[in-house]
Amino acid sequence: MRVGIPRSLLYYKYLPFWKTFLTRLGLDVETSPMTNKQILSWGVKVAENELCVPVKAFYGHCMALRETSDAIFVPRVVSVEERAYTCPKFLGLPDMIAAVAEQLELPPLLTPKLNQREKPSEFKWQLINFAREQFGLSRLEAVAAIEEARVAQRRYQESLVRGHKPVDLLPASRLNRTRFRPPGEKRKRIGLLGHPYNIYDGYITQNLIARLEEMGAELVVPEMTDHHVLMDAATDVPKQLYWTYEKEIMGAINHWTGNRMIDGVVYVLAFACGPDSLIQVLIEHRAKTYNVPMMSLTIDEHSGEAGLVTRIEAFIDMLMRKKTAA
Ligand code: SF4
Repeated sequence: MRVGIPRSLLYYKYLPFWKTFLTRLGLDVETSPMTNKQILSWGVKVAENELCVPVKAFYGHCMALRETSDAIFVPRVVSVEERAYTCPKFLGLPDMIAAVAEQLELPPLLTPKLNQREKPSEFKWQLINFAREQFGLSRLEAVAAIEEARVAQRRYQESLVRGHKPVDLLPASRLNRTRFRPPGEKRKRIGLLGHPYNIYDGYITQNLIARLEEMGAELVVPEMTDHHVLMDAATDVPKQLYWTYEKEIMGAINHWTGNRMIDGVVYVLAFACGPDSLIQVLIEHRAKTYNVPMMSLTIDEHSGEAGLVTRIEAFIDMLMRKKTAA
C-alpha cells in the first residue's frame, strides 16, 4: 500500500517521525511535490475562502497525491503537550478534507487522532491502536515502529538545533536555496518568525529565506533553539498561551531579544490566522521594548513578489543604516 503525505502544514515539523513510522508499518511512503502554482490554485478553488493560505495549500497537496497514492495521511493533531492545544484547524483537518474527498476523488484518508492534552503517554497508545486497527499489527510491532520514528525525529531536531533549517534537511527544494551570500562582515542577524509551513514553503512566501540571505541577512529561526528553552522563554508573557506552536514563536522572540541575538525580526503570518493575530500584538510589544526593528509580512494566495521584495529590501537597508549610525 502506498500512502501519501501532503507536503504542507505539520510536514515541516514531523516528517521524519511520520515517514519512519509509516514505513515501519510496512507502507510505501510518498510526499506530494513542492507547492507550485497548480497545487495552490487547486487548493484555493476547493477550500473555504476564509481559511488561511497553508490550509488551502494542504487541499491542493491532497489533490496532487490522488493519482499515485492508495491512501492520504491526514492526522488529527489535537494536542502535542499537556494542557495545551494546536490550532483548531489541525483538529478539524481530517473532517475538512473528508468533506470534499468524494468530489475530488481522493483515496481513503488515514486519520489517527493524537491528543496529549491529558497525558503525554496517550500519544503512544493512540498510535498503537491506529497500527492495530488499520494494519493488524501487534502491540510489539507498533511499539518498535514508534521507537524507530522517535529516533528519526530526535536526529532531525538535533540537526536543527545545530543550525540547520528544515529546508536544508527535508527533501530537496529548488526554492529557498540561497545562490549568493554577501561577505560575512556586512551581514545582519535577523530572526525569522512564523509557522514552519509558512516560512519554509518557498512558493507561498516567494522564496523569502533565499531572498533575505542574498540581501545580507544571517537568519536565526525558532527551530535552531531547543524546544524546552523556547517553552521556558514563552512563560515571560502577561497571560499563559495555550497554543503550543504559538508558544514556540513567542518563546523564540523572547529568547532572541533577551539574549541580544538579533538585529531585527521578520514575522510571517497568514491572513485570517486567529492565533497569529493574537500573538502579533505580544511580539510587537516585545520587539519595541527591546528596541529591535520588526517587520510583519502577512501572506495569502494573492501575495505578490514585487511588494515583498521592496519591503524586505527597505527593511534590510534600514537595519544597515541603523548599525552604521550606532
Ligand atoms: S495557526 Fe494560523 S496559519 Fe496555522 S493552520 Fe492555524 S489558522 Fe492557519
